[in-house]
Amino acid sequence: MIKELNIDPLYQITVRCQHCMHTFETSRVRPSFKKGIQTDSDFCVHYKDNNPDFYVVRVCPNCGYSFSENFSEKLTDSQREAIASKITVNWTTRDFGGKRDWDTALHTYKLALLCAQIKSEKERVIAGLLHHIAWLHRYQGNKEEELRFLQYALDAYISVYETEGTEINNARLMYLMGEIHRRLGQYVDAVKWFSRVINDKRIMDSAMIAKSREQWVVTREDMVAARLELPEEMQEQAK
Ligand SMILES: [Zn+2]
Repeated sequence: MIKELNIDPLYQITVRCQHCMHTFETSRVRPSFKKGIQTDSDFCVHYKDNNPDFYVVRVCPNCGYSFSENFSEKLTDSQREAIASKITVNWTTRDFGGKRDWDTALHTYKLALLCAQIKSEKERVIAGLLHHIAWLHRYQGNKEEELRFLQYALDAYISVYETEGTEINNARLMYLMGEIHRRLGQYVDAVKWFSRVINDKRIMDSAMIAKSREQWVVTREDMVAARLELPEEMQEQAK
């Protein structure tokens, strides 16, 4: 333990900006310091000290382009022009490479979201950024902002589902849409997605089927607590 105290929980990696080609350092949390203490039903992990999610976004100190590992690597000419005229022109050199507190982490996510929207990044990436911003507000207990960003994330996930259809990892996406609907108090839609994961015979993801069953029951309890009328399929006791 004493030995651990002398080690910096962060280490630095060098990355290249895909916009201006400048190379810069950004920090990451050492695996031995990633201590998750709780995982919420929508996969939000709460950490004891060092939150690796604070370091997901890489911010180029030179031009302001902000991105994550999930961003597409190549930028088209029109995307470059858009980043230059909407981000770089307003950018004053600032280095986000060191330790980040909550405010700094939120700032980096908002920069990445802006860059993702400007370059029309994949909807799945945008949804992930919005979901992470909701989690940041959850860490602070700011329910209003958390729910506002959960709704944005949900809208983006729905659009992912509509474009990707039945492609990979759908059960997780469907479960997540159900769970975010539930957290927003949109119980009928929550049940719709959970039931689809449970009943669709093509879905083989047993972990997501089990979680959908669990949250189906939780949704039923939420509805009873809110004195809402249960839809017919929920009137029987949960199986
Ligand atoms: Zn750059």
